[in-house]
Amino acid sequence: MTPFAHTLIHWFAENARPLPWRTTNDPYHVWLAEIMAQQTQMDRVVPYFTRFVAQIPHIPALAAAPEALVLKLWEGLGYYRRAHHLMACARVLCQDLDAQLPSHPRLLCRLPGIGPYVAAAIASIAYNQDVPVVDANVLRVVTRLRAIRTPVTATDTRQAVAAFCREHLPSGQARFFNQGLMELGALICTPRQPRCEGCPMAPQCRAAQDGTTQELPVRLPRPQVIRITMATGLIWHQGRVLVQQRRRDDVWGGLWEFPGGVVEAGERPEAAVCREIAEETGLTVQAPRLLGVFRHSYMQYRVTLHAFEVRLASDPNHLTLTEAETARWATWDEVRALPFPAGHRKLVEALSREQDHPHRG
Ligand code: SF4
Repeated sequence: MTPFAHTLIHWFAENARPLPWRTTNDPYHVWLAEIMAQQTQMDRVVPYFTRFVAQIPHIPALAAAPEALVLKLWEGLGYYRRAHHLMACARVLCQDLDAQLPSHPRLLCRLPGIGPYVAAAIASIAYNQDVPVVDANVLRVVTRLRAIRTPVTATDTRQAVAAFCREHLPSGQARFFNQGLMELGALICTPRQPRCEGCPMAPQCRAAQDGTTQELPVRLPRPQVIRITMATGLIWHQGRVLVQQRRRDDVWGGLWEFPGGVVEAGERPEAAVCREIAEETGLTVQAPRLLGVFRHSYMQYRVTLHAFEVRLASDPNHLTLTEAETARWATWDEVRALPFPAGHRKLVEALSREQDHPHRG
């Protein structure tokens, strides 16, 4: 074992966070945690993971779970395509692989939603196979350790980092080595303020010695921020509100929302909500009353959502859906149980907190 691997594994044994999937190394748990953590920090994943496995404890349960339940458990994690892939993958596993995740990365990569990174994580953490894992934390730690100055997204950089990991990965210790490197990046070698004074690798770290930790890893400029203004409307009829389900092939596919859409240049949100509802549902609505303005971000988009209550002025049974998979008139309790994208979820939560909201369930 190289001195680097020895130091790292020893440090991990002393400092690993007690994350729930680490107690079992169950392949289902490792897979789920890695998918959840793809765009989210591990600490934030814990409550989602715990709720998920409490209700869906194994792969056959995931294969049989209703989509609405899976999406509801995923609500707030974003990037919902991952949840759809999980369900598809579980069904393939139950159909063809005896409800077991394979242990070899090549076989894992053939499954829906599993790319080289997740495959390596499952193979090494769940099955302790000698496979390196290169995630954002590992890239950051190793580019600093070795002062690698090519852009962090470049293939050359990834290959150099993977080569470093292969060189140091001790046979039969991948579970600890890989998680140790990722944990070092998450806890010590953080993006903005690396804690080099408490880092076991400081004596052999080139960036710490050269004072270049702030320059590494080298990042290309971020894509420009795009601001979008949207308007949505709550249409009530006999104590129920209209909700529609987004198309499967659309962003946030399968999630629910109140009808509405993008406010066009020069248009007022009040006008946009009436126009969008007419275009999306065929219903005529009037007298928009502002309920609140909600902000959220995804990727490079910054969305401002104006939410209105509107009065229905046409036949509620004559729905003509142009943008949605399906729609229904739901009680407020039913609305609260449905999965929504971030902006609409904030709206539902805000209205649910209002004691005097007239339609509160
Ligand atoms: S010494 Fe500093 S820069 Fe180097 S690996 Fe440790 S925390 Fe990161």
